[in-house]
Formats: sequence, structure tokens, C-alpha cells
Amino acid sequence: MLHVVTRHGVAILVGLGFGAVLALAIVDEPSGSLHAPGGVAVFVGNLTALVGTYLALVMVLLVSRVGIVERAIGQDQLVRWHKRLSPWPLSLIALHAMLTTIGYAQAAKAGVWAELGSFVRTYPDMLAALVGFGLMMAVGIASIRAVRAKVRHETWWALHLYLYMALALSFAHQIVLGPSFVGHPITVAVWSVAWAATAGLVLVYRVGMPVFRTLRHQLRVVEIRTEGPGVASIICEGKDLDRLGVAGGQFFAWRFLVRGMWWQAHPYSLSALPSPRYLRLTVKAVGDHSSAVAHLKPGTRVAIEGPYGRFTRESSTQPRVVLLAAGIGVTALRALLEDLPGDSRPVVVLRASKAEDLVLRAEIEELVRARGGKLHELIGSRSKVRIDRGSLVRLVPDLKSRDAFVCGPPEFVGHIEAVLKSAGLPLTRIHHEAFSL
Ligand SMILES: Cc1cc2nc3c(=O)[nH]c(=O)nc-3n(C[C@H](O)[C@H](O)[C@H](O)COP(=O)(O)OP(=O)(O)OC[C@H]3O[C@@H](n4cnc5c(N)ncnc54)[C@H](O)[C@@H]3O)c2cc1C
Repeated sequence: MLHVVTRHGVAILVGLGFGAVLALAIVDEPSGSLHAPGGVAVFVGNLTALVGTYLALVMVLLVSRVGIVERAIGQDQLVRWHKRLSPWPLSLIALHAMLTTIGYAQAAKAGVWAELGSFVRTYPDMLAALVGFGLMMAVGIASIRAVRAKVRHETWWALHLYLYMALALSFAHQIVLGPSFVGHPITVAVWSVAWAATAGLVLVYRVGMPVFRTLRHQLRVVEIRTEGPGVASIICEGKDLDRLGVAGGQFFAWRFLVRGMWWQAHPYSLSALPSPRYLRLTVKAVGDHSSAVAHLKPGTRVAIEGPYGRFTRESSTQPRVVLLAAGIGVTALRALLEDLPGDSRPVVVLRASKAEDLVLRAEIEELVRARGGKLHELIGSRSKVRIDRGSLVRLVPDLKSRDAFVCGPPEFVGHIEAVLKSAGLPLTRIHHEAFSL
């Protein structure tokens, strides 16, 4: 119930803010200014600036990791919205820069380049805004799909920091020069509070909380255990770990504090519920970070951000569930299974290309047995072992009366979701964690 209220509350606040920003640009336009030379371009330029920066703030808020919003909506959904929204603020701000320069040039009967030069020389805070604009456009170009595909995840993450800097650099010129702000102290106050609140939330949730949790729980690697080909469990010891408030199926962003790794945080699910002294994650080597974790030395300090994720029993609408995972997706499934009550009789479907890829298998078998459930293992290549509506209903005859939890690579999650929908399961009963953001 709280999640539904939060979801609707967030949507209403964002909608109201959008309406207020539109109204601000329109109401504050002095009558007659549209008929003056360059008036239309300046008006539309102001409108696009206000809407563009408002949407940029919304984008920042979507990934600010505010706990209550993360739990209500889920990080994967928030990141999806963030990505979907991203072309808008950048295009609108680019349009603002273009139209405002054209409008002022028309009013001054000057050339566009001459007007741009005069902006930088004579208007306060314009140089900073121009640098901010350049940074925004650089990030915009890097976001074009063809370029993005070639950029490493870490570089991509670092580029986002420039976007924060770009927004900060552009703030002053908006307040000092924007027609909606000049001579409107209340508007300046409200806009400044909105910016300060957004920056505050980012600092608290993306910096303050992780630092606090890391200092409080004092995590260190104590053991690395090989689980299968290219898969290792990392056991971390710390203080009061049962007070982290983790539900089975959730994940943290992990930062191992050694040379070459401290600056990158990667998401890994817990592969077991925390005990007061230990946390466990299980990682499959697919790239440089996930390969390096298997070679961490005992004693390595660990910083954490989280817990995140809605892949938990709390999301379930029915008492009975079916859990499906492929490959390394068993990690979140294993922890979620451990969190289910003893009489839950879960059906678990594990998918792997080879038997040795079924890591944590013995633990899962034991947890399923203790809960009176059933375990199905589907081993073989995708062409030989297909999961379709018919085969799934044969494995889980009462599928329609259960909630489904699906975890693993994005292609597997997408395929199973489609199969579940075709089998008549409504979207509200399908929960997923795709191992890619
Ligand atoms: C919610 C979630 C839970 C996950 N849980 C597990 C788990 O329990 N065990 C496990 O082995 N793997 C898990 N993963 C996947 C794991 O995060 C990636 O395999 C790992 O980050 C790859 O990093 P790399 O440097 O080794 O490889 P790279 O070659 O850099 O990346 C391989 C792919 O992983 C993704 N990726 C890389 N870095 C990040 C990042 N910082 N954030 C998000 N995605 C990234 C990208 O899509 C990339 O294409 C999880 C992913 C998510 C999103």
C-alpha cells in the first residue's frame, strides 16, 4: 500500500512541477514582448530552458537512490525512465541556447556570432553557462547509441559527473538573466529550493548513506570460494549486518577498496541472507571487474551502497510462487528462496547450458526441500531445451495461481516474461531482476 501511495505521489509531484514550470514561462512573459523583434525566439527559448532544466532535475532525481522511491518503483524501472527521458532535457536546452541567441541577435540587429560574443563579454555568469552547455552536449553525443556502445561502463559513469557539473554551472545565469526570474524573488526562492533539495538528496543518498553504512558495518573480505567455472563467492565479515534491513533477492553496489577497483561500484546480488557477521555475494567472471573479484585478498575493505531492488517476497501478491533463473541469476533466486516461509512450497526452475554452470545447486535443493517445494533443472543448449508456454505449464501446472520471479541475463528475463504473459499471468504477478542496468 505504501509503495502504491509513493508511486502515485511521485507521479503527481512530477506532473504538478511540470505544469508549474510551463505556467511560469507563459504567465511571466510581458505583454507585447512577442511582437518585438526576436520576441518569439526569446519566448520559446525561455520556455525550452525552463522545461529542459526541470526535466534535467527530474532525471537526476530518478537516479538519486532515495530509499522509499527505490523500494516503491525499483532501480531498474527508475533507470529505464531516466534513459527514456534523457534526450529531452538535452535537446530542449540546445534549442534554448540556439533560440535565445537568435532572438537577442534579431533584437540587436546583429549577427548570431557577434551576439554570442557579446553574451559572454557583457552578461554575468554566461561564460560558466556556456562551459556547462558544452559539457552537456559532449555527454549528449556520448549517449548516441552507436557511440554509447563503444564506451566502457565506467567511462559512461564518469561522464555523468560532468552532467552534474554542467547543471551547477548553468544555474546562476538562469536566475540572473531568465525573464521568469528577474524581478520575481519568490520564483527565484522556489527554484533555488528545488535545486538545493535535488542536490541535497543526491548528496545524502548517493554519498552520505553509503559512507555511513560503510563506516558503520566495517566490511572486509574474509574468504573467496570457487563455486564453478569462472564463478566465485566472496564472503565479507562486518558488524551488525543483520541490521542492514536486507530482503532476500536484493543487491548492493559494491566497491572493493584496492588499487584499480576502488573507484568503480558494480551491482551484485546477495547470494544468501545476511547473518549478523557475514554477507555473501557470488560473481561470474564476464569482464575486468567481475574477473578481478575472485583474486581479492582477505582483509580487503569493502564499501557498499544499498540494499536496492524489489525482487523480494514483499512484491508477491500470492502465497505461492515460481522462481526461475538462468546462469548466474541463481544468486538472487537463492537469497529470495531462503527468505520464503517454511510452508511456501515454491517451484524453482533453474536453466543452464552445462551441469557445472548450475552453481549453488546443493544449497538450492536443500532450501526447496525444507519448504516442501519442487526443483526443476533444465540443462542443455537453448536450441535443445526451450522454455515455452507448453513446457512451463507442464512443469508448473498451477502456474496461474502463483507469482513468478525471474532472474538472469536480460534476454532470458525478456523471453520468460513473454512466455508467462502468454500463459495468462498478469504483469503485476511477474517480478524480474535482469542483470544489466
Ligand atoms: C541488479 C543487478 C544484480 C546483479 N547481480 C549479479 C550477481 O549476483 N552476480 C554476478 O555475477 N553478476 C551480477 N550482476 C551483473 C554484474 O553487475 C556485471 O556482470 C558486472 O558489473 C560486469 O562488470 P565487468 O567490469 O566485469 O564487465 P564489463 O565487461 O565491464 O561489463 C559487462 C556487462 O555488465 C554490465 N555492467 C558493467 N558494469 C556495470 C555497472 N557498474 N552497473 C550495471 N551494469 C554493469 C554492462 O551491461 C556490461 O555490458 C548484476 C547486475 C545487476 C544490474
